[in-house]
Amino acid sequence: MAEVIDCDVLVVGAGPTGVTLGLLLARGGLTTFVVDKAPDIYPLPRAAHIDHEIMRLLQELGVAAQVAATCRTASRYDFLTARGEILLRFEGIDRVGPGGWPASNMIHQPSLEAILRTAADKQPQFQLRTSWNWKSYRSDAGAVVSTIAVPDGEREVRSKYLVGADGARSPVRTAAEIEMEDLGFDEEWLVIDALVHDAERLPEVNLQICDPDRPTTCVLMGSGRHRWEFMLKPHETADDLLPDDVIARLLKPWNVDGAITLERKAVYRFNAKVAKHWRKGRILLAGDAAHLTPPFAGQGLCSGMRDAANLAWKLIAVSRNADDSILDTYQTEREAHVRPIISLAMMMGRTVCIADPAAARARDEQMLAARAAGSAPDGAVSNPPLGPGIMMLGCSEAGSYFPQVVAADGTRLDDILGSGAWLIGRGAGGTPRRTALKSIDLAEPRLAPFGSQLDTWLAKHNADAVLVRPDRYVFGTGAPESLMRAWLDLAL
Ligand SMILES: Cc1cc2nc3c(=O)[nH]c(=O)nc-3n(C[C@H](O)[C@H](O)[C@H](O)COP(=O)(O)OP(=O)(O)OC[C@H]3O[C@@H](n4cnc5c(N)ncnc54)[C@H](O)[C@@H]3O)c2cc1C
Repeated sequence: MAEVIDCDVLVVGAGPTGVTLGLLLARGGLTTFVVDKAPDIYPLPRAAHIDHEIMRLLQELGVAAQVAATCRTASRYDFLTARGEILLRFEGIDRVGPGGWPASNMIHQPSLEAILRTAADKQPQFQLRTSWNWKSYRSDAGAVVSTIAVPDGEREVRSKYLVGADGARSPVRTAAEIEMEDLGFDEEWLVIDALVHDAERLPEVNLQICDPDRPTTCVLMGSGRHRWEFMLKPHETADDLLPDDVIARLLKPWNVDGAITLERKAVYRFNAKVAKHWRKGRILLAGDAAHLTPPFAGQGLCSGMRDAANLAWKLIAVSRNADDSILDTYQTEREAHVRPIISLAMMMGRTVCIADPAAARARDEQMLAARAAGSAPDGAVSNPPLGPGIMMLGCSEAGSYFPQVVAADGTRLDDILGSGAWLIGRGAGGTPRRTALKSIDLAEPRLAPFGSQLDTWLAKHNADAVLVRPDRYVFGTGAPESLMRAWLDLAL
């Protein structure tokens, strides 16, 4: 067998989670090997939406402008009865969200993945190998040795950590004998993507049509494309719905004949599951390998990329001598964040996936009454905070998302401050040596365009300073010296 390859981290799976993680690790100086069994990017319809936080992460990776150029935005996401009444409305989703980018960005997943892979090509510490099929691992003196089937035989890769970002069926998860908890959602849908020739004939907003006769999704995608999804009825199979003439019949009510061309189609089973353990020693799980959500909130890929952001800075810190127990906080922080998001997606799914006419009538009556009574607000969705982990105890803002303020001329804060952890505040400054933490006084001229917004944020939280982690979640607020001490005590 050929020589063993050595690296800091082996990532199995070059989907959006694996490539994002690999990019962040490589930028942090870790030698990172990313392998995928497929020869190319997954071609079938999947994510159509990413949120403002993910755009901010793409900004850190230097590709946000390129991705934004391919995105479209919709102002609303409506759940309608078969008669067109509003059951649920999420409004203002095209406005700038806390991440400093539009709250919702409609995308074409393969285009996003291609942009990420091109960025990865430019990172010398990042090695991508396609058509490499990960098979098994064994532990070996402070490392994990993986066996991988490659086109001309077999290779071994020795890494300090092995991350399974290998999707819903995750062979790494199976090999590590980690079970999934099933949260109880199981529906089959046909998903089709279309190339658009006449956008004026298509809806400008995102829609869930809660029609028991055929629950249907119709949403924008990245420029030039539109998405429909149709729920399968209990007696239907994928083979019943996939033929083009059946799809043409399903699209008839949308009156889009001549306005679109069918590009791709697939039938998926939408599930909700969470892995019971996201870490087992040197093995970690991320993305769909760690959690699965029905797609109604457009958050599966987003959650995987958040995993990457959380895990990357901790693996980098461990490589610089932080205690490796900080990796245990990856699950405690991220699981508490992803579970409410999956619950929201299940609530949305349970609203739309009702095929029984009597149950649909009862749903309509109850939700229309709730809306009329004003108990169903129309705003954009806000994400939950992280669970307990690396944050200052007793600080109420710890674990919440730190917003990216945008200056009047459109400049974004992160572009000025760069990656890594920041301590920003009145009287902050004087970064100690031998730490990657950047300490910045609010009075520094480069913060002038953001000063009043940062000042308002600190005043609202009754603090002189905030310490923001590399993943842009708040470590703590308070006096600059105590924040710095607490951070440095963790050897981060
Ligand atoms: C219809 C639909 C709509 C969706 N809409 C949205 C949306 O709007 N927004 C959103 O955020 N998410 C959405 N999602 C979810 C999103 O597509 C996934 O969450 C996302 O692709 C997961 O990324 P990942 O990198 O974790 O896994 P994947 O993209 O599944 O990547 C895993 C990779 O691992 C590789 N692999 C597997 N086994 C091996 C092995 N043995 N060796 C090497 N490589 C291996 C696979 O080839 C694959 O490339 C949607 C999903 C579906 C199905």
